[in-house]
Amino acid sequence: MSKRRRLYEGKAKILYTGPEPGTLIQHFKDDATAFNAEKHATIEGKGVLNNRISEYIFIRLGEIGVATHFIKTLNMREQLIHEVDIIPLEVVVRNVAAGSLVKRLGHPGRLGLKEGETLPRPLVEFYYKDDALGDPLIGEDHIAVFGWASQPELDDIIANALRINDFMTGLFYGVGIRLVDFKLEFGRRWEDETSRIMLADEISPDNCRLWDVENHEKLDKDRFRQDLGGLVDAYQEVARRLGIFTDAKADGKSGPVLVK
Ligand code: C5P
Repeated sequence: MSKRRRLYEGKAKILYTGPEPGTLIQHFKDDATAFNAEKHATIEGKGVLNNRISEYIFIRLGEIGVATHFIKTLNMREQLIHEVDIIPLEVVVRNVAAGSLVKRLGHPGRLGLKEGETLPRPLVEFYYKDDALGDPLIGEDHIAVFGWASQPELDDIIANALRINDFMTGLFYGVGIRLVDFKLEFGRRWEDETSRIMLADEISPDNCRLWDVENHEKLDKDRFRQDLGGLVDAYQEVARRLGIFTDAKADGKSGPVLVK
């Protein structure tokens, strides 16, 4: 068997060559970064939890017919995925005002948007994936002019993002969690001469805002961004409520107990 090769190392994940052509291995690290990597920490157990939570959500999305890159989980930290050409966009869907939306349009602006306000309908935003530029907010026309995605691809991405939002809003609401916003990435998978848009990357508390419906507690990466502490406990709580773990241990050594 040939040794796998590291193809790419990002802030929270590593991609390795997969066992078959057209496949990759996605490895979840314990690293956390924020503010364009100015803030960094290693949080033991985060990678294991994100691997499991993302697996769970991608499987559920697959069950309702959303095309995703996920093939199967290999171990506590790794998934086998389809290789895709990543479209250089961060697609953010927002249901509730928070984060950069409030910074951009909140006080002292005329709109005066406040954190926690429910939006009249889900808002889909695009950011251009470029660390050197700090992932700037862009409009649909930038995508067309710079050729990052074709119009049919963009239509597909928006339809998928809204469908994923509807599904995940219900999924989380059912376990007492408000899905405030989240970020998606999509890729192109080539089959012969044609390509197809697929959901890629991960969906975990690293790229969603998740608030407890009752006490409004933050159960996501804002615990790290805002120095609130208790990140692993919060992620564990998300996993527990989704029915992924029966046990509270996810240090990657003893390993969480997975509900079959
Ligand atoms: O910071 P902002 O309010 O724009 O983030 C919106 C959503 O996108 C949040 O859920 C955040 O976790 C996610 N996000 C992300 N990766 C980024 C920027 C935002 O996962 N680079």
